[in-house]
Amino acid sequence: MFGFLKDKLKSALSGFAQKVEELPEEKPKQEPVQLAKPVEKITAVPESKQEKKVEPMHFEKPLPRIDIGRKPEEIHAQKTAAEGSSSKQVLEVKLEQEASKEKSFFDKVKDKFRKDEGETKHEEKKGIFEKIIEVASTTKISDKDFDEMFYDLEMALLESNVAYSVVEKIKSDLKKDLVDKLIRRSEVDDIVLKSLRKSIYSLFDVKGFDLIEKIKEKSEKPFIIVFVGVNGVGKTSSIAKIANYLKKHGITCVLAASDTWRAASIEQLEHHANKIGIKIIKHNYNSDPAAVAYDAVSFAKSKGIDAVLVDTAGRQHSNINLITEMQKIIRVIKPDMKIFVGESVTGSDCIEQAASFDEAIGIDGIMLSKADVDERGGAAISIEYIVKKPIIYMGTGQEYDDLVEFNKEKIVASIGL
Ligand code: GDP
Repeated sequence: MFGFLKDKLKSALSGFAQKVEELPEEKPKQEPVQLAKPVEKITAVPESKQEKKVEPMHFEKPLPRIDIGRKPEEIHAQKTAAEGSSSKQVLEVKLEQEASKEKSFFDKVKDKFRKDEGETKHEEKKGIFEKIIEVASTTKISDKDFDEMFYDLEMALLESNVAYSVVEKIKSDLKKDLVDKLIRRSEVDDIVLKSLRKSIYSLFDVKGFDLIEKIKEKSEKPFIIVFVGVNGVGKTSSIAKIANYLKKHGITCVLAASDTWRAASIEQLEHHANKIGIKIIKHNYNSDPAAVAYDAVSFAKSKGIDAVLVDTAGRQHSNINLITEMQKIIRVIKPDMKIFVGESVTGSDCIEQAASFDEAIGIDGIMLSKADVDERGGAAISIEYIVKKPIIYMGTGQEYDDLVEFNKEKIVASIGL
């Protein structure tokens, strides 16, 4: 699913970073350092006039005598013989042994000090060096640069059936995040990716709903859903999938075979109803679709069935007769919800159909069928933004269980963002 779009985006994004590499350096403006208080003028005092305060040195105990050149054993033997071997004396001997080693303690301290100082200087130098690199690797993208850079991404989106107005929106979002901003080259990939992800997320801002909850919320049964869409998009299969899904969630359904126009449509729906194990209400071909729907609603009322799913004729959305027929069904049964079924693979056609049905009868939600065979994903990315109605389910195969609740996180993840 959506593999084509994922690959296209990946290559377009890497091209973006490459182009940023070619842009000239842009250094951040150096702000003048502001001191909190002006520094007082320092006047040098001649050395002769300087008061010399020498603090007297106090030693709590005498410093050990350092016998340079003598072996520690000799010192120890001498000490022991002269003063006896008390623990205090042993300590003194140890100190003297330390002092006799090749490098004195003070030398070691000095060494350590030098080393630390060196490291500190090195750290300072490293910091400055890194800062230089940082400056050298920052750049700014101009409006013109951006338009050139966006070209590959634009093509990738358009080739993947993403609607033109959606591409324009993505472009403007990215522009806001990138143009005329001082950015580090090393972070371009990340910035573009985050910006693109944010922009695509915002395409799914339409508030969705939980169909199960909606049905359960309705106090007066049945909850009526009319399905609309053009021929062959998978409308009948989608109705069957939703009926199966509702049944699994403990919601009883009846189907209304209100497509009395297309040959074999009634038998097809009946076949599904039998397989799922639910009731279907049907009339003859060419009978009034609104009458079929009305009968199904009456049946549901009398039997306490939770939901009525109404199939309708799938002629072209531009067909005036079809629209008049739809409007009549809606007038007669006053549905709680109108769901448009569209084929994900058809991209802009699917979006156009949804917009036309919405204009004619006002749709409440979208079921995108055949998402499993859609490599481009343009319809899924664009339809909510354009039609302003939520995608509620997606068809992902030819089995009844091949229905998934729409999840924008999964969509965004499936295109590698
Ligand atoms: P209708 O004319 O709009 O009612 O379309 P149908 O329900 O008869 O479906 C047309 C064809 O699309 C059938 O072969 C279905 O099995 C197939 N189909 C429907 N939904 C899906 C889907 O989500 N994925 C796939 N791969 N095929 C589907």
